[in-house]
Amino acid sequence: QKLPGSYLFSEIARRVTVYSSEHPEAKLIKLGIGDVTRPLVPAVIDALHKAVDEMGQAETFRGYGPEQGYDFLRNAVAKYDYASRGVAIEPDEIFISDGAKSDCGNIGDLFSVDNKVAVCDPVYTVYVDTNAMSGRAGEYDTEKGGWSNIYYMPTVAENGFVPALPTEKVDVIYLCSPNNPTGTVLNKDQLKVWVDYANANDAIILFDAAYEAFIVEDNIPHSIYEVEGAKTCAIEFRSYSKTAGFTGTRCGFTIVPKALERKGVSLNAMWNRRQTTKFNGTAYIIQRAAEAVYTEEGQKQVRENIAYYQKNAQVIKDGLAKAGLEVYGAVNSPYVWAKTPDGMPSWDFFDLLLDKANVVTTPGAGFGPHGEGYIRLTAFGDAGLTVEAVDRVAKLLKG
Ligand code: PLP
Repeated sequence: QKLPGSYLFSEIARRVTVYSSEHPEAKLIKLGIGDVTRPLVPAVIDALHKAVDEMGQAETFRGYGPEQGYDFLRNAVAKYDYASRGVAIEPDEIFISDGAKSDCGNIGDLFSVDNKVAVCDPVYTVYVDTNAMSGRAGEYDTEKGGWSNIYYMPTVAENGFVPALPTEKVDVIYLCSPNNPTGTVLNKDQLKVWVDYANANDAIILFDAAYEAFIVEDNIPHSIYEVEGAKTCAIEFRSYSKTAGFTGTRCGFTIVPKALERKGVSLNAMWNRRQTTKFNGTAYIIQRAAEAVYTEEGQKQVRENIAYYQKNAQVIKDGLAKAGLEVYGAVNSPYVWAKTPDGMPSWDFFDLLLDKANVVTTPGAGFGPHGEGYIRLTAFGDAGLTVEAVDRVAKLLKG
């Protein structure tokens, strides 16, 4: 009941629907919501067909699976996502799920109602809203646009999108790199500062690496466990959504290291208890589909899709920069974060782009008070339409 207003994307959808009904001839191009558009790759489709057939035969039919995920997928994750980067993660530290959104929200079950939570601002709103639902956020202040018990860490152009360490005691810290919405990343040294802080202050880092597959630069960790000391202070979330186009297929996983303990209690054991109580596992056929992502063919095919989106990101970033906007992100991320011209409020700029360029974006203010003055554009669209959208915006800004 305390949650303010509607979810950001429902408000965008509402405005788009109103505009479309008043301008039925308008050819809208949507660079707003962070959903993929390329179809699942052939290696994944083959694995799905095969798994479906298995489910239709008595000899290979599967009922309830392990709540933590099948060994074949946990072993593949340990080998290809971690060991290949020199990080030792044991299969029983890996919990397969139906995606990172559920896990980012459900993880709150492990924390007490008086734990202090820190988030970046702007932020992936799920972190904040789920803490509000668990009663940890306090009261919502409409004027400030924030919760009384949440510690907000501004991440803006002025600090290079690197949050400053908290000046008061916090217990749980959400970090997301590559970041949604800013598209910026934390390098190894910057993450090390946070790992050291968390270990020294008994805090826990919830590290969201849903966009890990978009990292291209060498010094950017794909996993927080590439940073020394992270196994005693961090939980990591991963997803096949953006990596392999699974937004509608649903699979992800969470790493809870066995070395992570607080007051002598293992968080791995707590998460296992939570999952076995409230979750009955991810569908067998979906886990087989996720496993196929790691095959040689699967890797080649998903990398082609990621490269397609990365090219779109570059097109958006270059085009908007040329048109005079200050732009961030795009390099290790499918998101471009652009400052609005002349400090225009972000919902005004959203409306202007919708009305005059027929391009749908996401207003930065929807991600938190420090998102004000920015918009987010996504690279998940069709390549041709992305070029056209950027052209339209550039013409509008120059005209
Ligand atoms: N984490 C971040 C930062 C995201 O942006 C998203 C999706 O947009 C998710 C998690 C959710 O991913 P999933 O589709 O695995 O639930």
